[in-house]
Formats: sequence, C-alpha cells, structure tokens
Amino acid sequence: TAPLLQVSGLKVHFPLRPGLFGKPAAMVKAVDGVDFTVHHGETLGLVGESGCGKSTTGLAVLRMTPLTEGRIVFDGEDISHPDAATTKRLRRKMQMVYQDPFGALNPRMRVLDIIGEPLRVHRLTRTRTEYRARVMDLLDRVGLKAEMADRYPHEFSGGQRQRIGIARALAAEPSLIICDEPVSALDVSIQAQVINLLEDLQRDLGLTYLFVAHDLAVVRHLCHRIVVMYLGRVVEVADRERLYQAPRHPYTRALLGAIPIADPDPEIQARFNPSVDGEVPSPIDPPPGCPFHPRCPHATELCRREAPRPIDVEDGHSVACHLHDPSRATEMTHPEPSY
Ligand code: SF4
Ligand code: MG
Repeated sequence: TAPLLQVSGLKVHFPLRPGLFGKPAAMVKAVDGVDFTVHHGETLGLVGESGCGKSTTGLAVLRMTPLTEGRIVFDGEDISHPDAATTKRLRRKMQMVYQDPFGALNPRMRVLDIIGEPLRVHRLTRTRTEYRARVMDLLDRVGLKAEMADRYPHEFSGGQRQRIGIARALAAEPSLIICDEPVSALDVSIQAQVINLLEDLQRDLGLTYLFVAHDLAVVRHLCHRIVVMYLGRVVEVADRERLYQAPRHPYTRALLGAIPIADPDPEIQARFNPSVDGEVPSPIDPPPGCPFHPRCPHATELCRREAPRPIDVEDGHSVACHLHDPSRATEMTHPEPSY
C-alpha cells in the first residue's frame, strides 16, 4: 500500500536577517534536500544533533513552515501548497507532541479544556456530556484518573503533563503524530513510561509516529526505521536492527559510539568510530561537498568537492557516503597526500 507520508526533495531555506544595503540576506539552509517515507502504523525516527534540521522537517510536514522546494504527499494528497480548507483538515489529521510538557499546556486552563480543545475546534462532540465523556476516555487511555480533569497543569508532574499533551494530540483522532523529542525533558525513569505509553497507544489505536530525537538511545526501543540527518540532509536510512548492528555512515557510527554501553562487546565496539570531535557546522554556510567532511576521519579530496548521493547498500538501507559508492572506490582509496 502507499505510504502515509512521502517527503521528496524537501528544502526549507529562510533568511537569517534581511539583506542590508542591497546585499543578499544570509540564508539558513535548515533542510537541504531530504527524502523519506512513513508507512501506516510505523514509527519512523528522525535523528541528529541539534541544528541538523529535524525539527524544521517536522514543522514542514505539519505545513507550519513554507517549503522552499520539494513535495509532501500525505494520505495520497499533495499537500506541498495547501489551500485553507486542506490546511484546516491537516490541523486535525496531524498532531504534535512537544518536547516541553511545561510550556505546551496553557496554565490557566483546566485539563478538561486542554484535552478537549481539539474537540471544540474541530466540532467533534455535540453535547457537553459527550464532550466530558470523551475527555474522560482520553484520560483513561493515557493512564490518568478521571478526577484529574478539573485540575490545572501546575498540579501535575512532568511525566503526567506529557500524558496530558498526548491525550490532547489523540483527541482529534489523527492519522500521524509528530513527536518532537517528547521525553528529552523528563527524568530517565519517567522516559521509559512515556515511551511504553506511546507504544501501547500505537498498538491499540493503529497510530503512526514521526519521532524526532537527538540521540539514538531513545529511539532504539520505539522506532521501526530510522532516518539519520546531518546539516539538513539525510545521511543514512535503515530499519532498527540494521542501523544498530551494521551502521554504515561515519556519522551514524559516531552517534552510536557516543551511546554508553554497560558491557561493551569489543568486537562491536571496534566497528564503531570513537565519538566525533568538533561542532556541527552552521547551516548558514554549510561546507561544500559532503557536509560531514570537516569532522569525518575518512574524508578525501572527493568528499571536500562533491556531495555524496544516497546509495542502497541493502534492501531498505541507504547511505549517503562516497565510501559506500562502488563507482567512487578509486577516488576513496587514494586519498590526497598530506604535505
Ligand atoms: Fe566522510 Fe567522505 Fe563519507 Fe562524507 S562522503 S561521510 S566525508 S567518507
Ligand atoms: Mg529541535
């Protein structure tokens, strides 16, 4: 069947500040040519360090930021340039769970009306009784008690607030939920509970998630497939098993090397590079060629000159790195001499 979401050639560039004295404005290339698909009922992880464009990609999918280039198809419909009616429909069909459960909830609203807001906006219930019953059902789904409906957000813990945020996202009966680092503001002990809740809801309600995260540890238990981003581009796509067992891109290997492993198998450990040094370069003036070359231990003259194209190394596993492109083998095995 056709995927629920298909993103192709997505670019989101925006001016950093207006150009002065006739000079062109500096452009931030937050997303610079991204392709991925999300299938019905799966969880796709979108992973990378801050500044890699993963949140902007999420906002573009939600159609909350304009596209510079590319195409987004959702549920068979091209939503690249939605009209007002389409946008309104999307506001219901796609929901967001935010990173910050504290900032995302209106402190002056009772939980009843926070969770019920999508019901009112999209006119999904007809009577007050029906409305209240629906909110009670949502509270129950996320593991909160009915009597909590009449309380205010400040009376809840971080984990409970995130449950409230999830209940609100569910209220509109969306087909896609974009989770933007939904557990990174929570204590580690609470993180697992929220991840388990998201998994249970997916199983029971057939939900589809696009799950944004800054490291590979969180997505390991939740995501079926993972897209690794670096400086606005996709560097590797694979299903979970392959990504953790046979990562190919030097950046993915570095991210995995940065995950602390309690009892490291030296053989597995040896396959991973030590964690990369240096910072993510600015998306305002990204480096030419492969965007990862300033930090890559394998960079050659070719990498500095030419951006790698994604290569399928296995069914469903693609890597954008010259090292994995057989047609560039000669140029990669004869690195330029260092003087
Ligand atoms: Fe490193 Fe070159 Fe591969 Fe980029 S293309 S990740 S610089 S080896
Ligand atoms: Mg972010």
